[in-house]
Amino acid sequence: MSRTGLEASGVTIGGARILDGKAVAAEVRAGVRARAQALIARGVQPGLAVVLVGEDPASQVYVRNKDKAAQEAGFSVRTLKLPAQTAQAELERVVRELNADRSVHGVLVQLPLPRGLDSERIVRALDPAKDVDGLHPENVAALVMGDARGLAPCTPAGCIELCDRAGVSLAGKRVTVVGRSLLVGKPLAFLALARDATVTVCHSKTSDLPAVCREADVLVAAVGRPELVRGSWIKPGAVVIDVGINRLDGGGLAGDVAFAEARAVAGWLTPVPGGVGPMTIAMLLSNTVLAAERAAGVSRA
Ligand code: NDP
Repeated sequence: MSRTGLEASGVTIGGARILDGKAVAAEVRAGVRARAQALIARGVQPGLAVVLVGEDPASQVYVRNKDKAAQEAGFSVRTLKLPAQTAQAELERVVRELNADRSVHGVLVQLPLPRGLDSERIVRALDPAKDVDGLHPENVAALVMGDARGLAPCTPAGCIELCDRAGVSLAGKRVTVVGRSLLVGKPLAFLALARDATVTVCHSKTSDLPAVCREADVLVAAVGRPELVRGSWIKPGAVVIDVGINRLDGGGLAGDVAFAEARAVAGWLTPVPGGVGPMTIAMLLSNTVLAAERAAGVSRA
């Protein structure tokens, strides 16, 4: 979405404009669909394989959503459901088979895996060119080296895309990321660095976290603690991106940011749900169509 488009569709609540991840994701997905159609016209249908091991209810929902979104994008989708007792060697065999299948351009193994399975070894078994979650060490290295030929992890890439489409430039800005996981915090820090931001990464041992957060022009919360980030931690006018998805005991979802407080202070704010979540799926589709374009030799990226 263009800056003007987003502003026109964005709802202003209190001081903050809402970064509408649902609307931006729809725009990204429309672009992916067009690229998929162009590939199909050349005889190549983008193919995504999703591997789900076990019965984890949240994983089942995520896989269903990814499957549906990929179909809507015009991809061929194969969802492989394996029992929780699947042996490591068997899962690695399945991954190698998908690596070798020329109709599959993206392979995603839904994490976390059941106990007893070594997810790091499974990720290493993936063909890096098909690793649409961007977790293979070769893709991590590409990210750290600022090499655009890799595939970036979907959630942090979605945060950057949200900023881009809101017209928020990161160059020269102080970007503070709370959380240092391999899935979100660390890759986001490197993506922001590649955009010439001055990056601070915080974690559970950071001293005076509120004071560090107050310095941020762009504050990203990827912690997994409901409403950890209070309004008083936010610099007036800052861009606040809430990655957290916390299921509350009484039902419902909360982000890592106290939304009502933040909206009175921030300049831009992502809601939960409807912020980063939809962007994650959109970037998965984007990575898959990119992998298909590269395999077909029609990508410039
Ligand atoms: P992890 O549990 O892997 O990492 C959490 C990070 O937060 C760690 O680095 C940890 O520090 C840090 N942390 C924990 N408590 C505190 C604290 N009190 N103060 C400061 N830092 C703290 O989580 P993920 O990165 O995988 O996910 C983070 C959140 O994002 C979760 O709510 C998850 O559900 C959500 N998520 C959302 C996605 C989406 O699509 N919207 C996708 C992926 C995740 P330390 O390293 O010191 O332990």
